[in-house]
Amino acid sequence: MHATRVLVLNSGSSSVKYQLLDMRDADRLAVGLVERIGEQTSRLKHTCLATGSTRERHGPIADHDTALKAVAEELAKDGLGLDSPELAAIGHRVVHGGMFFTEPTVIDDEVLTEIERLIPVAPLHNPANLTGIRTAMALRPDLPQVAVFDTAFHTTMPEHAARYAIDPAIADRFRVRRYGFHGTSHAYVSRATAALLGKAPEEVNVIVLHLGNGASASAVRGGRCVDTSMGLTPLEGLVMGTRSGDLDPAVIFHLHRVAGMSMDEIDTLLNKRSGLFGLCGDNDMREIQRRMDEGDQRARLAFEIYIHRLKKYIGAYYAVLGRVDAVAFTAGIGENAAFVREAAIAGLEGLGLEVDGERNAVRGGGARLISPEGARVAVAVVPTDEELEIAARTYELVGNRTENG
Ligand code: AMP
Repeated sequence: MHATRVLVLNSGSSSVKYQLLDMRDADRLAVGLVERIGEQTSRLKHTCLATGSTRERHGPIADHDTALKAVAEELAKDGLGLDSPELAAIGHRVVHGGMFFTEPTVIDDEVLTEIERLIPVAPLHNPANLTGIRTAMALRPDLPQVAVFDTAFHTTMPEHAARYAIDPAIADRFRVRRYGFHGTSHAYVSRATAALLGKAPEEVNVIVLHLGNGASASAVRGGRCVDTSMGLTPLEGLVMGTRSGDLDPAVIFHLHRVAGMSMDEIDTLLNKRSGLFGLCGDNDMREIQRRMDEGDQRARLAFEIYIHRLKKYIGAYYAVLGRVDAVAFTAGIGENAAFVREAAIAGLEGLGLEVDGERNAVRGGGARLISPEGARVAVAVVPTDEELEIAARTYELVGNRTENG
């Protein structure tokens, strides 16, 4: 029997998200989530899409090993166990691949060591990703495990976009440069946008706006990323749910010296208590919309700061690309919040950018144009699918390996 299934694992510090796909037709067989690992109130939610059944488990799940074993048990109940000969590989989301990993990579000891070496530039994410990988390897040591990196798509950025204007000797020694994140999404969405236009990725220039709780923009020329808004860490760039995005780096010195805050306190402030949440106390765009409708001025200002930053990046990437074929909105806010899309594009007619009210108001559905018929630049909503992208790249790699012997 030819193995055609791929399990995709996205391991966070206290959670594991998973999907099992059959790559013959990209069919999703099961999806699920384990959250609050290490706490008393852990929860596993598993859905088998073939039968439409959902099961939940509540109660303490001590660590990733226990979590993954519980996931394996749930999959087995649906006849989709990890011991199945139909399972071809496990694909892992790995946040930071530095400059080293430019492509999805089959994991071996050397790869594990390199992911570990990148922990100083991704202290929150890479350790959790590594734990997930090690646990899965212990469970199925014979199975190919593939790492798909959030940074990989951005490794094509030219040096002038990737380097900060600081002493290169210091930058190189401490690996300080702009890496960018959400690369799996930017890759998928830029390709899907080209397909929506009926073109090959090589033929089009696209600005991708990934607007979820984390948010980033990228400029993609002919299928290759030439700039992106996140930097050394995911803190740089757009205003996000809880991250500040761009600010004068001297704000940090000021908060340290004048406000007496420690570096850890400033880190927490900028990553967890800033952005929309810091500005108005809410990071859910639906809640912000509701509050604006009631005339709430704090919510309104937070929204205006968010939109102003977004517009600046659209303008900047327009200039970087020179010619733009499409602007694509994706992720939770980009796919669902029509009022955000409308506000971000408003006033950009001079750049050939316009949104058609009726098209923009359509909810749900797949990739779709929201610019008027015959517009100079296409504006589109393109739902992202990071799990499918990870599964596809994993399967591609493992399939090739098998063919090449
Ligand atoms: P993500 O990180 O991609 O899952 O996006 C999560 C964010 O999407 C949430 O914080 C919400 O603000 C936003 N979101 C989801 N659904 C909607 C909606 N119908 N309208 C506005 N924002 C939404």
